[in-house]
Formats: sequence, structure tokens, C-alpha cells
Amino acid sequence: MRDSAQIVIIGGGIVGCSIAYHLTRMGRTDVMIIEKGELTSGSTWHAAGLVGQLRSHRNITRMLQYSVGLYEKLEEETGLTTGWKRCGCLHLASTEARLLELQKGATTARSFGLDMHIISPQEALKIFPILDLEGIIGAAFMPSDGQADPSGLTMAMAKGAMNRGAEVQQKTLVTGFQIKDNRIEAVITDQGTVRCETVVNAAGMWSREIGKLMGVNIPEVPFQHQYLVTEPIPGLPPDLPTLRDKDSLLYYKQEGGGLVMGGYERNGIPWAIKGVPKGFTQELLEPDYDHFQPLSEAAVKRTPCLKDAGIARLVNGPEAFTPDGNCMLGPAPERENCFVAVGFNAFGIAAGGGAGRMLAEWIVEGEPSLNIWPLDIRRFGQYHKSLAYNVDRTKEIYGKHYTISWPFEEHDSARGVKRSPLYYLLKEQGAVYGSKFGWERANWFAPAGVAPEDRLSFGIPNWFEHVAREHQTARESVVLIDQSSFSKFEVEGSGALAFLNYVAAGNIDRQVGSTVYTQLCNSRGGIEADITISRLAETRFFIVTGTAFGVHDFIWLKRHLPNDGSVTLRDVTSCYAMLNLCGPRSRILLGKTSDDDLSNEGFGFGQCREIMIGSAPVTALRVTYIGELGYELYCPPEYACHLYETLMAAGRDLDIRNAGYRAIDSLRLEKGYCYWSAEVSPDYSPYDAGLGFAVDLKKGPFIGREALEKINREGAQWRLCTFTLNGDRPTMLTGGETISYRGRVVGAVSSGGYGHTVGKTIALGYLPAAEAAHGDGYAIEVFREAIPATRHATALYDPKRGRIFS
Ligand SMILES: Cc1cc2nc3c(=O)[nH]c(=O)nc-3n(C[C@H](O)[C@H](O)[C@H](O)COP(=O)(O)OP(=O)(O)OC[C@H]3O[C@@H](n4cnc5c(N)ncnc54)[C@H](O)[C@@H]3O)c2cc1C
Repeated sequence: MRDSAQIVIIGGGIVGCSIAYHLTRMGRTDVMIIEKGELTSGSTWHAAGLVGQLRSHRNITRMLQYSVGLYEKLEEETGLTTGWKRCGCLHLASTEARLLELQKGATTARSFGLDMHIISPQEALKIFPILDLEGIIGAAFMPSDGQADPSGLTMAMAKGAMNRGAEVQQKTLVTGFQIKDNRIEAVITDQGTVRCETVVNAAGMWSREIGKLMGVNIPEVPFQHQYLVTEPIPGLPPDLPTLRDKDSLLYYKQEGGGLVMGGYERNGIPWAIKGVPKGFTQELLEPDYDHFQPLSEAAVKRTPCLKDAGIARLVNGPEAFTPDGNCMLGPAPERENCFVAVGFNAFGIAAGGGAGRMLAEWIVEGEPSLNIWPLDIRRFGQYHKSLAYNVDRTKEIYGKHYTISWPFEEHDSARGVKRSPLYYLLKEQGAVYGSKFGWERANWFAPAGVAPEDRLSFGIPNWFEHVAREHQTARESVVLIDQSSFSKFEVEGSGALAFLNYVAAGNIDRQVGSTVYTQLCNSRGGIEADITISRLAETRFFIVTGTAFGVHDFIWLKRHLPNDGSVTLRDVTSCYAMLNLCGPRSRILLGKTSDDDLSNEGFGFGQCREIMIGSAPVTALRVTYIGELGYELYCPPEYACHLYETLMAAGRDLDIRNAGYRAIDSLRLEKGYCYWSAEVSPDYSPYDAGLGFAVDLKKGPFIGREALEKINREGAQWRLCTFTLNGDRPTMLTGGETISYRGRVVGAVSSGGYGHTVGKTIALGYLPAAEAAHGDGYAIEVFREAIPATRHATALYDPKRGRIFS
């Protein structure tokens, strides 16, 4: 074995081989895959091999579409059989809700450039003639999905990589790492030590143990997963598509004249949670016929030919699942030269091709070409180091793999991990909590007599009118919102200003007491973070970003810190609770509680002040996310209850009310404010998003400046547009809906919701610049119904002018 390689990939499953394949295609050929058994001997060899593409997130779908495109060509390129068959996938619906979900999926597919037709049960029967249609009320067909031989795909990608110089070191167990100054310098194996520049953990369900050796947390939990393989079934029609009957929790694939049938039971069984044995190689678990019985009974009903089919085997293979059902890709936050590609939740065959490409781009170019934030390992936090949390939440996620994906659905397990000091106080007042990044956050407040619970529906939700009241109070009077979960950082030191001016697109060199709304861009001008930076003192700055983006943004800042010790960066999220006081009466209210100068002249928009409210020391920022006069009030957590009670008492005669996150969303949509990961993300520049006003190209060098100058000079390719659906009927949008112009798909909705002041359903979404200037003819397609929509040139609401369209 060689004693050095530029890039070492641990794991020779489909994912590790795909990464090597793509790295070598990008010209990085000094690559070594280290595999403890033989290639494919982890989860890959026993996968069923269904390859589906549609996910609710556009770029994950694109990643899977890329896999399909690659699998179609791989055999020709490498000469190895991959078993790829573009057979299509049939989805069945037995309930109205499932049919709506399929219609939603078909609409999303259309906006993502995928063909998915809704068909009748009889048409489904023609495509899959062995079905019993009992209870089926509709179906959908996706012709471009397929199936493949997972081992064949992996071997073909390994061969492609080796043809270009990669080396595969089999029967070699990784046992440790040499780590210096936060970098992995060498990989230690039972066959020797390999020095390297970059390490990739692609060790499937062993990756948590590998992670521990690296000092990198991998929150994944192996689960048993079973499918049945039949003997050949006489008379089985050739060329059946794959089938997903999610209401029966089942999937099917044709293989060797028989069927493969598996499913996702509600009570999945975690396996080897304390650590997967190192010696578990090319092995299966004992079949558990009793546990599989409910699935086989449902399958015999759906496809009666199974009743007499001979059973070749019941495969029980373990696979890595994660607490949110998505895999983990990207740079490990804890190390400088370590990447992960793990936790594939039973879609590693479908994802393998695209995930390998994304990771190779990340290594070679510093960023993947698609923003795949829902898969980014930086979405996990400290609390994901808890095995109890991970097992509890992953059990729920496994059990919901095939249940209906409801809008606004919250999880029941592993709740209450992070709570604001106001948690119980607000609960007593009817707070209905949702969870975000482990935090309990009030989504809305149930008035007396109303059950404090969400009822799941694709229609108008039970909380609609209550959120409307919170929204109206924010527009007409004043509300108090507990936003303690926001992520907060402190940047301090003689080099702090220069550092921030280098990472931010806006000019941070403002007077002490200023708050700047700015973006942190990457070298392509894409938006890596959307934050406020407040200058609290000459050399001390306070940064606020979204709850779930703390790890991501902190690591982005950390990676760009100067190494001369002139700047310190600290996560101070837990040092401050935050109450957002907003609405036209907020200044009057604040004046009743504070002796500080709160006049517009003394404390104007975009400024920050250290003030006293009651007896609480508060850092107040005069910014809000809802488009009204308002203040973000940060205080040490021990003062939070006092601050809340003081403000509530002073606001009683001003009709103050609690508000939650669903009201914020409705309010910010009216004002056209962006949300990172939806409207703003690495896929779009500030100019695309209409945030050019926040970029200062004249201030000197900063990350992304050249790219932004070019976009500014040549004009943005994209335009973030605001639409309202014609008519007053509220329609619940959740993102991904199609935007069409005269029947032609021109974009997808990034965020949508109902604006209670404008009385309209609002949709935001990007269009190519050339498609953004049409007059009449736009429509938003929801559940396959095209609802005519109007595009607006400005935000829909302004506090000075009120509702600004007719
Ligand atoms: C029963 C079943 C059915 C499935 N069906 C489908 C399907 O239909 N469609 C789909 O898309 N997905 C399916 N999957 C999921 C799919 O199999 C996995 O997501 C995918 O194989 C994961 O690939 P991987 O490369 O990440 O992991 P693996 O294939 O597990 O590869 C990881 C490799 O790392 C090696 N390794 C671990 N530790 C070390 C070490 N210390 N030193 C050296 N090497 C090490 C292991 O030996 C292993 O070969 C299914 C999974 C199961 C269990």
C-alpha cells in the first residue's frame, strides 16, 4: 500500500466509489479508496435498487436526476453491466389525502422539469397488471425513474475512477487518524499509515465510529430494513415499473422473473446503536418474519399473485438513517480537511451518483454547484451528539418514511431539548410549539377555549384565524415575539472590522451604534449567509442569524478568520434571550418602560443601543423582520421573564398580544423579506434577490466582489418575484409549486403563504430575468390547478403606505 495519497476516501460502497469517480473526472487522480472488506460489502450489495428522483427540494431532485443521467451512460463508458432500466415508477393512492399529496408531487415535479402524470386506477392497472385495485382511488406515474443493480453501478464507478488513476485498497481496516492543529494528517490502517491532504468519511453505517476516531460527530442510527425476494412468478408481465403503495407502506421491483417487495413499517427496529461491529462485512441479519408479517399481508392483498409465489429469501439488511431523514454531505465542522458523505436513509443508490458529484465539487472547488443545504452536515448541532436524541427522533422518521408528508407537520419525539426562559410562561398563555434546531418555538397562540394543537390538513389549517389575529395586531398595534432561538455571535479584536468587511458584501465600517443588514457571499457571489451585524464598540461586533443556520454561518466565518490572533469569534447564542417588540405602537410602549432616548432622532432605524427596560439591561436593535417599527431586545437569559412581564404590563392598554412564527412568516411575505435557504441561498446573488442595495462594491476587496461586479455590470440572470394569487380564496402554499406563464413552466415557488393584511395568497419565486417582465398570463399551479396570479413590482405592504397594491 502506498504511504500517501492526496485524497483518501474511507468506504468502498456506492457513495465512496462515486466520489472517487467524480474526483478523477475533475482531474484529481491521486485518490485512494480504503475499504475494510471488498467493494460494495456494506449496505450497497443488498440494496433493492429502486431509483426514484422526486424530492420536495428542487436541488435534491436535481441531484437525483443527475444520478439517473449518469446511470444511463455508465455501462457504455466502463463496459460493466449496471442493470440500469428506465422502467418508471407507479405511485398508488388509497386516500384523498394521499391523492392530494401525489397531485402536489406532480406539480412540484413539473416545476422541476420532471414528468409525472396523475392517472386513474384503471390506467394504473394497465401499467401494473398484477394489482388488486381494492381501495385505490388514483395513481401517478413517473416514467423517468428506474432500477439498477447497486453492485453493478458501484463497480462501474470504481472502474471509471481506476481508469483515471484512483487506487482501491481493499481488505484494509481504518483504525485511527493522526491529527495535528485540527487537521487530519494521516489515516492509520491495519496495513499501514497513509498521509493525506483531505479525508472523506463515506463509511456508511460505520461512519459514526469513524467519526469518533476523527473527532467528528455523525448523528446516524442503523436500522434493520427488510425486503422479500420471490421465485420467478409464472405469467408475470415483463417490464413492470417499480411501484410505491405508500398507504400500504410497500414498494416493489421486478427482478429475475419474480418480485422484490419491501416496505417501511411504522415500528422500525434500530440495530447496533452502540456501534456496528467492525467484522460485519458482506453480511445480513437474521430474517424477522414476524416483524415483516404486516407488510407481507398487505402485499398479498395488493398483489394477490404473491400468495402462491415461492419465497426465495427475506433480506434483512441494516442501513444508516438520520434524525431528519436526509443524508449528510459536506465539510465536517470539527476538522479543517475532512468531508463526510454518509447516512443515506435507504436512498443511497438513487442519490449515490449525484452525491458523489456534489462532494467532489466541494473538495475541488470549495462549493458544490447546487445549494444542497438540507443535506449539509452543518445543519446538525451539539444536541445531535446525544445517542438518546438520535435514536428517538430517527425512530419517528423511519416510521414516517411512507406516511403522508403534511404541510406544517411537527415531530413528536425528542422534543424540549432547548427552551427559552419564557417557555412555561408562554405555554400557559396558549403557545403551540414547534421545534427548530432543537428549540421549542411558539408557532401560534391558542386563545382561551381553543385546543392548543395543530390539526394536519392540506386545506385551511385550524390555526389560520388565530394567526390572522396575531398578524393584524402586529400591523395595527404591537406584538411581542420570543425569538430567543436566534443564533448570535460576537466578533472582537483589533482586526474585527477589517475581517467583517472582507467577509460581508455590505460596508460594516459604520459608526458605533449601527446595525447593518448584509450578506456573506461565496466566490461565485452566491449568498452563504444573510445576517445583521451591529457595531457595539469600536472593535466589538454582534452578529445575528437564523436559528438553524448557526453552525453553518459560524463555520463560514471561522474558516475565513485571520490567523494572526487579531480577531476572536464566539458563539453567544446562549448568552442572550431575545424578545422582538414590533408594531406601530412599539415605540410608545417601549417609552413607558425605559428612560433612554427612544425618539427617531435618538434611536433611528438600523441602529443599536444599550438601554434599560424596567430593570433589565438590554441590547436593542432597531430592526424587524416583519416590516413595521420594532425592536429586537437582547438580554441575559435571567432577565427574560422580567423583560417580558414589564413589556406586557406596559402594553396592556395598547392591546399588546403574543405572536408566533407563523404570523412572522405571513408578515414577512407581505414585505417581501427573504429567508435564507428559500429566497436567498448560495444559488443566488444579492442582485438576483433584489438585495443589490446591501452590496458595497466600492468599499475594497471582499469575498465574491469580482463575481458581484460582473453580475452588476452584465445584469442579474434571475429575478426574485412576488406574486399574489387572483381571487381572495386562501390557498396554502408550502414551496415547490410551479410558476407558469401562459402555460409554460418558468419557475418554482420558494416560499408562499397567506398575507392577512393584503388579503391574498402570496408566492415568492425566482424567474429567469427575461421571464420576469411579462404582464398578464402568470399562474401558480397548486395540486395541478393553475390559479391565475399577478406579479408585483414592489413589496405588497409598506408601513407608511399600508397595503400598496389594489
Ligand atoms: C435492505 C435495503 C434495501 C435498500 N434499497 C434501496 C433502494 O431500493 N434504493 C436506494 O436508493 N437505496 C436503497 N438502500 C440504501 C442503500 O443500500 C444505501 O443507502 C447505500 O448502499 C449506502 O451506500 P454507502 O456507500 O454510503 O455505504 P456502504 O455501502 O455501507 O459502504 C460503506 C463502506 O465502508 C466500509 N467501511 C466501514 N468502516 C470501515 C473502516 N473502518 N475501514 C475501511 N472501510 C470501512 C464498509 O465495509 C462499507 O463497504 C437499501 C438499503 C437496505 C439495507
